[in-house]
Amino acid sequence: MPAAPRKQCRKPGCNRLSTSAYCEEHARKKEVEVKKQQRDYDKLRGTRTERGYNNRWLKASKLFRAGKVCVMCEAKGIAKLSECTDHIIPHKGDDGLFWDESNWQPLCISCNTSKASSEEGGFGNMRKI
Ligand SMILES: [Zn+2]
Ligand SMILES: [Zn+2]
Repeated sequence: MPAAPRKQCRKPGCNRLSTSAYCEEHARKKEVEVKKQQRDYDKLRGTRTERGYNNRWLKASKLFRAGKVCVMCEAKGIAKLSECTDHIIPHKGDDGLFWDESNWQPLCISCNTSKASSEEGGFGNMRKI
């Protein structure tokens, strides 16, 4: 049985002969390289989308709470200008809840932080204010 024709490895400077485009070593390196490029591309795409998402949210949030006071401070009779927009129902990555303006409320940073920590505490650990 005649042996398969062997050609020189396509990697410049490599003189090894192979039955495929690359010698064994460079075929493996090529594969790793392609996979790395795909990962880098995915990473880049990911951050770009995230950045766009954040920018959109920051703009929407700013517009929404412009001139509004923190609703939790207001409930306590304090007029404090809002510093962030809070999701009344935690969106947990749900796009519908995230972008639903009726689910937004203006809060100051400290109220937002205390709300987040009391939520994380869950049932049985609810603090009464
Ligand atoms: Zn090679
Ligand atoms: Zn507040």
